[in-house]
This record gives sequence, structure tokens and C-alpha cells, in this order.
Amino acid sequence: MVNITLDADKCEGCGTCVDSCPVSIYSMDGGKAKIAGDVNECVVCRTCESACPAQAITVAE
Ligand code: SF4
Ligand code: SF4
Repeated sequence: MVNITLDADKCEGCGTCVDSCPVSIYSMDGGKAKIAGDVNECVVCRTCESACPAQAITVAE
């Protein structure tokens, strides 16, 4: 069970998470990232977490 949190207040809208997630969990919506894919497909690589310049993403198991 993976729990992904995305703090929209911290998100700077850079799109890095959209480009870096191998299973396309994220998409952009109105200048902010949102979780749009199936979280159950997350492989817990934590690329999104480490790549986000705003520390807006937390991936927890
Ligand atoms: S990488 Fe971080 S700051 Fe950039 S769009 Fe994704 S959540 Fe927002
Ligand atoms: S941990 Fe990896 S697979 Fe999961 S949402 Fe982040 S980039 Fe995607």
C-alpha cells in the first residue's frame, strides 16, 4: 500500500514529477501537479520525491 501526498500549496508547477514518474502518476492541472494515475501502480522508486524542487511530494509505504 503506497500513500502519495502532494502539497498543492508548495507545488511550483515545474512539471518535473510529470516527466519523471515511470508510471505516469502525475499530470498538470491549472499550473499545479495533481495525482491522476493509479497510485497502486507506483513502484516506489521515489524519483518524484527527490526530483521535486519544492519538496511538495511525499511517498510513504
Ligand atoms: S515536481 Fe514538485 S513543484 Fe514540480 S510540478 Fe511536481 S509537485 Fe509541483
Ligand atoms: S515513487 Fe516513482 S513510481 Fe511512484 S509516483 Fe513517484 S516517480 Fe512515480
